[in-house]
Amino acid sequence: MVACDQGYLCEVCGEEVKNIAESELYLRFVTGQISSQELLGSPERHLQCTPVTAQFIVTPEFTPIDAPGPFNKHDLDDEFVRQQESLLTRGWLRLQELSQLEEAIPLADYPLEEFRSA
Ligand SMILES: [Zn+2]
Repeated sequence: MVACDQGYLCEVCGEEVKNIAESELYLRFVTGQISSQELLGSPERHLQCTPVTAQFIVTPEFTPIDAPGPFNKHDLDDEFVRQQESLLTRGWLRLQELSQLEEAIPLADYPLEEFRSA
């Protein structure tokens, strides 16, 4: 078990990101959008603080978030929105799973299967 499980501060609101289950950075990592290097070198952000990403998480367990401004999904291409919803919802469910693991697993095994490097 990792002793240093303390979270990092959210770049947007300044509060601690306590768990990867609420981390936008980890969501982007498990969905193959950033590498592990970028993961370790980027500032943390809550999903709640990044509505443009979080609006694509569509599952009863997640309270829907509406993104303000020009990137609201209702103004985006339908096909793109469908892809993002499918991907980011699966990614979010993966984060919930990871946050409940009893034992730590290698970072390389965090991403959804299709994004794990061999
Ligand atoms: Zn925040």
